[in-house]
Order: sequence, then structure tokens, then C-alpha cells
Amino acid sequence: MGSLTELLDDMKTMSEEDVLALFNRRKKGLELLRKRLGDKRIGYKANGSYELISEKELPALEKLDYLNDLLMPITGKPAYKLGNEKTERFGFSTKYTQALVENTCEGELHSGKMMRALTDLAIQKGVEIKTGAEVLRFEENNHNVTLFIKDPFRNEEWQLKCSTMSICTNAFTKQLLPDVDVTPGRGQVVITKPVHGLKFKGIFHFDEGFYYFREIDGRVLLGGGRNLDIEGEATTEFALTDLIQKDLEQKLNEIILPGTPYEIDMRWSGIMAFGANKQPVVKAFSRRVFGAFRMGGMGVALGSHVAQSLAKRIMEHT
Ligand SMILES: Cc1cc2nc3c(=O)[nH]c(=O)nc-3n(C[C@H](O)[C@H](O)[C@H](O)COP(=O)(O)OP(=O)(O)OC[C@H]3O[C@@H](n4cnc5c(N)ncnc54)[C@H](O)[C@@H]3O)c2cc1C
Repeated sequence: MGSLTELLDDMKTMSEEDVLALFNRRKKGLELLRKRLGDKRIGYKANGSYELISEKELPALEKLDYLNDLLMPITGKPAYKLGNEKTERFGFSTKYTQALVENTCEGELHSGKMMRALTDLAIQKGVEIKTGAEVLRFEENNHNVTLFIKDPFRNEEWQLKCSTMSICTNAFTKQLLPDVDVTPGRGQVVITKPVHGLKFKGIFHFDEGFYYFREIDGRVLLGGGRNLDIEGEATTEFALTDLIQKDLEQKLNEIILPGTPYEIDMRWSGIMAFGANKQPVVKAFSRRVFGAFRMGGMGVALGSHVAQSLAKRIMEHT
């Protein structure tokens, strides 16, 4: 949904109205996703979400009431509240964490379970899913759109025809629509082995949303550090870098698990999509070609609502 400092940061480049609209889209998207798939099947838990506030972000606390008032018509309750007493209980560095802000609107889900539930639903509705089929280009005429697809096994190209095409390739969209405003942003992630005596559950953010960590199955999953090399991480290449991997380990040692032994189990990266502003793009590019992409690192929350907007756009044009 967005942390306190993240939303305040958004307000430097977006109007209050746009920030509110985006918050509402995430809320509606999450509600729709939960309703459609069911909390149990996506591993949804309302274990709470918190932001660790360091000294440099303390001034943000003065805006907590202002932001709560602004969001009230959407949330119906104060979205943010102070939970400083939990810092020590959770075992975080009290040197770094000058305050802890609870976000009362956010929850957690298991993204693997969510994808499985979505796949099951799609198949049940008669949707066919083709994997390993890279769309190289497309051509449109008055009657249909032809997709040219790379067959990785036979090293040949084959074609599919459709009456409308929707491009939902998020960070990879420039390959098919070279003129769109999409900049990829790689997110590097580490997960520990189960940590003996782990003191926290839930979702946590720090540094204006640039770092995110959570408990999952007794492990700590931590992602972030893109802000250390914004240019280098503006890539669609799935890879890890020493700079960011070392930084993530340092954050585990010094802020999240100070004095608690742990071992890293796995490391990976994923690609997000950003643009001049944080709004996703939902657009008709022609009578037959549509797109919904640039999820701003919030596609799990936004996706279901954005997909509905896309479907409406297609219905209006056909
Ligand atoms: C580390 C990390 C943490 C995140 N945390 C959160 C979070 O807490 N909350 C949240 O809401 N969101 C989060 N996100 C963002 C979320 O994962 C994305 O916004 C979401 O996955 C976007 O979904 P999508 O289907 O639009 O795009 P993607 O999941 O990127 O899927 C695009 C698909 O298109 C395929 N593709 C691309 N080009 C082609 C082509 N030419 N032909 C055929 N197929 C193609 C790709 O293979 C891919 O499968 C996070 C992302 C990362 C990387």
C-alpha cells in the first residue's frame, strides 16, 4: 500500500489527488485479488506492516496526522500509527530505528500460492496459458493482429492471430512498444535459512520503501538496495551484484538481526517497472492493440484492478 515516507516522497512529484488515487487503486486491487482467490489460497495474513524510521526520516512523523486525515475517506480508519514499543520486542537495532510506524491497511501474501491460485482460476475459465513463447514482434491490419513467436526448441518462428492483443509485459514492454515511458528497476533479494528464535512476524519497510523485509516460514526475506546504483539497476537482466548483496547482508547484520546468527539460503532478482510518475499505464494503442504495464513495484496490489480497467478499455473499443 505504501509506507509513510514513501507516500510523502510521492507527494514531491505527484499531486495529493494523484497520490490518493494510486493508494485507492492498490487498496481496491488487493481487495479484488483476495475476494477472487480467497485468503487461504493465497496465504494472506494480516500480520501488520511497519516502517522503521531512522534519524534522517524523523521529520516525517510530523506529517503522520496530516496523511491519516487525507487517507481517511479511503481507509475509514487511521492508516498510520506509532508502534515504538515494538522495536525492542522485534529485536531490531534501536540505534537505527528511532521510531516504528504501523500501517494498519497492509497485509502479506504468499506470491507462489497466489500465482498457483490465479493459474487454476484462469484454466477453470477456459484461458490457455502458453509458456516459453517469446513474442518477437506483432503486425496489425484491419482484421486482426499477428504475433510472431520464437519457438526456443525448434529455433523457428511461428505465428498466432488474434482480434485484440493486450501487452502486459511490465518492465519488458519496450521490446514490443519502443516508444513507451518504461524504465526497468531490478530488485535483488536474499532469504535466510530458518532463524532460531526469530522475534518478528509481518512486513517491514525502511528508507522510503527502498528496502522491504518480512518473515516467511521462520525465515527473513529481504529485498532492496536499488537506490545504491539506480543507473546500474535500471536493467531487464536478471543478475546479482556484489555491491547490493553485501549491502543487504549488512542491513541484516546491523538493523534487522543484530546479534542473531543467521545463514543466507538463496539469492535472486526480479524486475520492476517505473516511469516519469508512479501511475500504471492502461492504454489503447490502436483499435486492436492495448497495454497495461509499468506497475511501479506494486503490481501484486495493483494488478487485479488494473486488469479490470484494461478489460473495460477493450470493451469500449470493440
Ligand atoms: C523484489 C520485488 C519485490 C516486490 N514486492 C512487491 C510488493 O510487495 N507488493 C507489490 O504489490 N508488488 C511487488 N513487486 C512488484 C510485482 O512483483 C510486479 O509489479 C508484478 O510482478 C508485475 O506483474 P506483471 O504480470 O505486470 O509483470 P511480470 O510479473 O514482470 O510479468 C511479465 C511477464 O511477461 C513476460 N514477457 C516479457 N516480454 C515478453 C515477450 N516479448 N513475449 C512473451 N512474454 C514476455 C515475462 O517473461 C513475464 O513472465 C515486487 C517486485 C520485485 C522484483
